[in-house]
Amino acid sequence: MIFAGIVKTSLIDYPGKIATVLFAPGCNYNCFYCHNRSLIEDFTELLDQDEIDDYLIRRQGLIDAVVISGGEPTLYNDIIPFFSKIRDLGYLTKLDTNGSNPGVIRRLIAANVVDYYAVDYKAPKDRYQEICGEDADANKVLATIDLLIQFHQDFEIRTTVVPQLSLEDLVQMAKEMPLVPRYVLNPYRIPKKYQPCDQDRIDVPPYSEKQIAEFSETVKLYQPNVVLMF
Ligand code: SF4
Repeated sequence: MIFAGIVKTSLIDYPGKIATVLFAPGCNYNCFYCHNRSLIEDFTELLDQDEIDDYLIRRQGLIDAVVISGGEPTLYNDIIPFFSKIRDLGYLTKLDTNGSNPGVIRRLIAANVVDYYAVDYKAPKDRYQEICGEDADANKVLATIDLLIQFHQDFEIRTTVVPQLSLEDLVQMAKEMPLVPRYVLNPYRIPKKYQPCDQDRIDVPPYSEKQIAEFSETVKLYQPNVVLMF
């Protein structure tokens, strides 16, 4: 795998653990609100792999977990041996994914190299391409979620509550998913970098935290394990 970014110490990316987060460049989605646009479009500098290895060896015992995020990490063929290497160093492992590759998730589960998954469910099925680009397919994300449940994996689902999603959309999404053990609602923040064609969508004011908290009360009727991340 290759990485274009690192957060050396994070208290928010692995529930209850201190984590280092590595960001793999490139993505098969094109969410209009992506906060990692430079990572998915025009990354120029990659981290030195030897330096990453040295860092992870030096931090053994100081950091609990390593999170592989992106971009979309499941696009990398060597994701399984990379997770395996991290595990061998004694770290817990977590994958952040858009859920678009259930085949890779199935292989990761079989290899038993990921301790925790975070999967984005980004829109109602019938609006997935509108929000996430023409290559997005909600059915694949739902297949990923089904696999995680079927094979008793630890995971959470995350939704960024962009202002284009109404309460009705959030309820529909909550109904489309099977019951999930942890459903994180993230507030939307306007990205620094975005496509000029998305200016109108970017200009729509975000929901307040109070509004999202109110929405969550209705969403909980269908997904009781809602967590607000603010
Ligand atoms: S899936 Fe994530 S990294 Fe990919 S475009 Fe969407 S927000 Fe950005």
